[in-house]
Amino acid sequence: MDEGKIEFLRVNRHFRNPMVTGQGTALSIDRLLLRCYLKGKWGYGEIAPWPGFNTESIDEAIRAIEQSSHRYSTLLEILHDSPGTLPCLRAALFSCSHWESISTFKGELSSAGLVTPFHANTLQLKWAEGFTTLKGKITPSTDIAEVRSWLTDLPASAKIRLDANGSLNIEQTHRWLDFIQDEKRVEFLEQPLPVNHEGYLYLPHDKVALDESFLTPGALSWKGVLIVKPLLAGDGLALLKWGQSHRGKRIYSSVFETAIGRQTALWLAAQDSPATVHGFDTLGRFQADRLDRHSGGPKTMGLPHFDWNLFWHEIK
Ligand SMILES: [Mg+2]
Repeated sequence: MDEGKIEFLRVNRHFRNPMVTGQGTALSIDRLLLRCYLKGKWGYGEIAPWPGFNTESIDEAIRAIEQSSHRYSTLLEILHDSPGTLPCLRAALFSCSHWESISTFKGELSSAGLVTPFHANTLQLKWAEGFTTLKGKITPSTDIAEVRSWLTDLPASAKIRLDANGSLNIEQTHRWLDFIQDEKRVEFLEQPLPVNHEGYLYLPHDKVALDESFLTPGALSWKGVLIVKPLLAGDGLALLKWGQSHRGKRIYSSVFETAIGRQTALWLAAQDSPATVHGFDTLGRFQADRLDRHSGGPKTMGLPHFDWNLFWHEIK
């Protein structure tokens, strides 16, 4: 019987500039790259936990792989016996087992521009790069009047997404929602309150998007926009099945994956929600480590003719 073999490679990536979010500041992140030998072929996947999201850690994923003695079929049994656990590992194994389709993906997706640091000049620069949807991170100390002034020079057709990463309290959230009421270019306020905050019961679904609160399908009833981080969302098949029946808008978003995870995330976004402006403007954020291979910009594409086996040997 073909039990499948799993190899992994842990990589540490250093941001060029510290990544500041409402969850704090990150200087570097670890990723666990998987390579599975299944039915005579190699497939690839990536475990990419992200601060603020309640998933397993890299170490926990490694422990599960070692518990399986690096056997794919044994690892599936372990996951089957513990439902709801290890969403990053489930997403990575889905990627490995669907790599033949994923690796051929070349199609084009629209992406919002991630404006870091969030400021008048950086907004203008992203607009000049051709991004028509722009996303900025806000914190409790971000000044609303200042943000209003930054937007004055942007055209009426610009769309703005504001992400608080769960850092606001209820009063601050309402102040931002009042601002959005007047400033029609703002598409939504993303994750204003912490995960599980009861204030969400009273916030308008049409102006608030959920990200950290979402994680995996099924646990949440929210009619508004949901931000889907496919590498954190568990098994890809379950995700796509949920997408077929969920009416609300889904925006797929990167967690600063390497090329392996990016290829998978783009493929899943294209299967589920091809016409949406997603969040994949995360390239060029790390010190050169040859782990990014896609090209970025307002239109983001897959890498259909890439030699992933060679990639693996180059980065090992
Ligand atoms: Mg977010």
